[in-house]
Amino acid sequence: MIEVRCKVCDAGTMRRRQVHRNSGRLVDIGYVLLAPSIPALVICTLSFVTLPAGNLWDASSGLPGDIFLLLAIGAIASAVLGWTLIKKKDVFVCPVCKAVSEPGMKRTKP
Ligand SMILES: [Zn+2]
Repeated sequence: MIEVRCKVCDAGTMRRRQVHRNSGRLVDIGYVLLAPSIPALVICTLSFVTLPAGNLWDASSGLPGDIFLLLAIGAIASAVLGWTLIKKKDVFVCPVCKAVSEPGMKRTKP
């Protein structure tokens, strides 16, 4: 691993860290979207696996199998959106002065 000395304090060695790409509020929204979509996808998957094809439309319960399909589509959509919002990026952080530099912004050849 290449050691990069901190340009701000000249004392610390920059460490690779992963930080959120978006602001805190957007990350919160991302988790809110992502969290319920995971159990929803599990329920949908189980319902597709356990329900025989003929029982997909269960008139007695009034719960059509299609609702699971719609739920699955919604869950996938919100999972993708949530995942996009909470995606992280690599930055370099100085452990001494907490200065942050983003790799790729300044490309210096060793
Ligand atoms: Zn520093």
